[in-house]
Amino acid sequence: MALYDQEKRKVVITGDRPTGPLHLGHYVGSLQSRVEMQDRCDCFVMIADTQALSDHFENPELVARYVREVFKDYISVGISPTKSTIFVQSMVPELFELTSYYMNLVTVARLERNPTVKSEIQQKGFDESVPAGFLCYPVSQAADITAFKASLVPVGEDQLPLIEITNEIVRRFNRIYDTDVLMEAQAVLGKIDRLVGIDGKAKASKSMNNAISLSDSPEMIKEKVFSMYTDPNHIKASDPGKVEGNVVFAYLKAFFEDDEELQSMKKRYERGGLGDVVLKSLLNETLQKFLAPIREKRRSIKESDILDQLEDGTKRAREVASMTIEQVRDAMSIKYWAKEYR
Ligand code: ATP
Ligand code: MG
Repeated sequence: MALYDQEKRKVVITGDRPTGPLHLGHYVGSLQSRVEMQDRCDCFVMIADTQALSDHFENPELVARYVREVFKDYISVGISPTKSTIFVQSMVPELFELTSYYMNLVTVARLERNPTVKSEIQQKGFDESVPAGFLCYPVSQAADITAFKASLVPVGEDQLPLIEITNEIVRRFNRIYDTDVLMEAQAVLGKIDRLVGIDGKAKASKSMNNAISLSDSPEMIKEKVFSMYTDPNHIKASDPGKVEGNVVFAYLKAFFEDDEELQSMKKRYERGGLGDVVLKSLLNETLQKFLAPIREKRRSIKESDILDQLEDGTKRAREVASMTIEQVRDAMSIKYWAKEYR
């Protein structure tokens, strides 16, 4: 059972938006670190449904469905609901109170300048009509991180500018209210900090539909691997090919365990003499082996356990967040009913 014991163990928080199935990018960027950390840290794992609604507000049914699916993704890769505290963001109202207070400590210009938010706004085609909730999600993320006094946040590279905003808020809060209630956090990057999309785009992402999901069927995995972008000038096996920007090599780097063999294949590919079909078959075999036990574990999850375990984790998370809220209110003199005022 994850006990909240800040004195002895580091606190870790991270989460995912329930907007689609988790994929290999999540695994190498963040899930793998969470599994490793859950034995020695107090890990909080948040299903960020409120954040998901900031760009899926017209589709709450999808978000609701993926709350369960993301939970299953967690279990399937080895995140344990007893070692880690897995919870649902919307069910912890303390987070939204914190968000409100933090909203005063960051400027609109600062949020608009954030490179991650900027590129997501562009990618989602919001143009001039960015929902205020979306623009402000980094503030709500600051609330998520600080509510648990987390010092470590296992995330992909796209999250670094957001953690920077969190730490700015922490420093401002502590300075303005002359306190040390809030803690700065540090990102923990995964084995691969940004896994490319199967289409060659910079990042595999749920919303761009360019990822291999943890729950994909063997047929789907094969189809996706064989559709991967390689080097358009590498037509015959004997042609010299490019490794740089080649999606198959990027995935082999992340999942193929024999590094020596991979280096020698790279050389052979660059020289000419290694065909895409051979390369893709190797990646397919590697990913099939990697994903089969994950799929198996997912199958063993009892549907009837999901809600109980989520409710349990959420209750635990609320207890911790409400301790922080007490301290935050105290620092901000929001204690009108306290004894000293009577
Ligand atoms: P969406 O498109 O809905 O934003 P997403 O695929 O970006 O979905 P998130 O839920 O936003 O996934 O991200 C959850 C975590 O997974 C974050 O820490 C993020 O940095 C990490 N992550 C997501 N995609 C990748 C990737 N391709 N490579 C490495 N880390 C990733
Ligand atoms: Mg994202």
